Amino acid sequence: MGTVTLRALHKSFGSVPVLSGVSLDIADGEFVSIVGPSGCGKSTMLRIIAGLEVQDEGAVEIDGRSMAYVRPKARDVAMVFQSYALYPHMSVERNISVPLLMRRLTTAQRLPLIGRFLPGARAVSAAIAQDVRSVAGALELTPLLGRKPGQLSGGQRQRVAVARAMVRRPKVFLMDEPLSNLDAKLRVQMRTEIKELHAKLRATFVYVTHDQSEAMTMSDRVGVMIDGELIQIAAPHVLYDDPEDIRIATFIGSPR
Ligand code: ADP
Ligand code: MG
Repeated sequence: MGTVTLRALHKSFGSVPVLSGVSLDIADGEFVSIVGPSGCGKSTMLRIIAGLEVQDEGAVEIDGRSMAYVRPKARDVAMVFQSYALYPHMSVERNISVPLLMRRLTTAQRLPLIGRFLPGARAVSAAIAQDVRSVAGALELTPLLGRKPGQLSGGQRQRVAVARAMVRRPKVFLMDEPLSNLDAKLRVQMRTEIKELHAKLRATFVYVTHDQSEAMTMSDRVGVMIDGELIQIAAPHVLYDDPEDIRIATFIGSPR
């Protein structure tokens, strides 16, 4: 299961309102895109779901469970950032393994002695290496495992970022403009790859983009956000044929 529920999220930075009552129900396995002009609050919404930012009012639930007291690492979500946020000094293999190492570290920190002398520590490392290799294989990164991010193309870096998100097998993927740093041809190719990934993993995807054609071609539903409000969320053809608001028609480019 991987349902996501947002209940009337409000968020301001200082006196500037960024989210003004965003409510949303996302079904398990659904691919939902959020589109809207730059600065409308898309990234802030994703960061609140991931727990990287805290709302002023409202609630986030994942699988019906309130995330109010759940730390980011303990949430069953993984985020892919626009900038990829890879560690430049680490190999691809190490970059992908970070979420698994962090999870182990948390246990070790909680139980310092047991953690340090854990008899199964070697086996745990072998299990991590196995998981990393399996994800790398799925994304055709195996030949690149020894390289550093600086030695990769933009598309390869993007794939490493996706691999790092996948390795924990989260129920919910949050993607913040993951293709915006790629050239046009690669962007179209990666759309297909992300859709294939979605079909294979059957996870829930919340996909943020300012590219409406990306959203319209990839999604079960598209939500249009303007000035911190989700003004309509519907299947792509409904948004196109029957926009509720002139701002949606303008943004989507539909006939009226
Ligand atoms: P989007 O992803 O749709 O481009 P963001 O969610 O990044 O929009 O930002 C929405 C607004 O909130 C912007 O005006 C941005 O400048 C502001 N903002 C975002 N993060 C912060 C922050 N940490 N501190 C202050 N203002 C912020
Ligand atoms: Mg953004």
